[in-house]
Amino acid sequence: MAEPSLDRSMGAFLGLAVGDALGAPYEGLGRGSYPPVSDYSAEGVHGLGAGGWTDDTAMAICLAESLLARGGVDERDLLERFLRWYRTGENSCTGAAAGISRKTRAALEGFERSGRVDAAAELENAGNGAIMRLAPVAIFFRRNEIEARRAAARQARVTHTAQTALTAAECFADLLVVALQTGDPEAVSRAAAGSKRLADICDPHGKQREQISSAPRAADTLEAALWCLEGAAGFEQAVIEAVNLGGDTDTIGAVTGQLAGAIFGASAIPPRWLAALHSRARLEDLARRLHEQGTEVAP
Ligand code: MG
Ligand code: MG
Repeated sequence: MAEPSLDRSMGAFLGLAVGDALGAPYEGLGRGSYPPVSDYSAEGVHGLGAGGWTDDTAMAICLAESLLARGGVDERDLLERFLRWYRTGENSCTGAAAGISRKTRAALEGFERSGRVDAAAELENAGNGAIMRLAPVAIFFRRNEIEARRAAARQARVTHTAQTALTAAECFADLLVVALQTGDPEAVSRAAAGSKRLADICDPHGKQREQISSAPRAADTLEAALWCLEGAAGFEQAVIEAVNLGGDTDTIGAVTGQLAGAIFGASAIPPRWLAALHSRARLEDLARRLHEQGTEVAP
């Protein structure tokens, strides 16, 4: 097993992909309309193989490689990588940009047409794409929560400019950093409970399952992920809860998986899920490099 801090960094990235892969076959289906999920399925709405993943993981790979290549967030480099993924399937697991949303597509096409890194500005996208791909930023900047938060908002803004999405990205970065630094679920709970900014956009505390939205908005998905973690004893239980909520199953899975993986580490992810995960070795290598090359201060 990796040393605990590296294990948590690997857990955050692998947890994202595992949650995405578990939920992907059911994306867009209603809660309770499919049999309870407990493993990967080779069937499903995206036609991926078992252990295959969607835009959440593909965009996280683009973000990871951009951070490593540029030493921090570089909007133009990041958008160029997102655009190659969208147009050519680079960093996808099937050769196509599975799961891309209408507004994210519009943002990338706007950048393609205009060359402007702020092409997403007028789209006011409040979607959960702002947080589904975030783990690489949290790993890279885990020693400095201010830089992590700033980088989280910058990577979000290239596709998601609604204030709630930016706030969700910043709050999620805060929680991921606490998780990566401590591995302590209580410390993460305290950080969430003590955040005024988080309370402005969501409040999972004490809610019943039917009160949790599975819509693809960043604030709703963050609330759903925190709710899944609150009632869970470990990684597996949290992520299984997430992908059984219906709606944006892959992304609720990816967001829950990032945070659960950051808390409990890659060693807490069921081996059967790691063994069958598409591109596992590549994801592990990226997580390790982000962990080792991570910085305290952005350039
Ligand atoms: Mg997806
Ligand atoms: Mg999704």
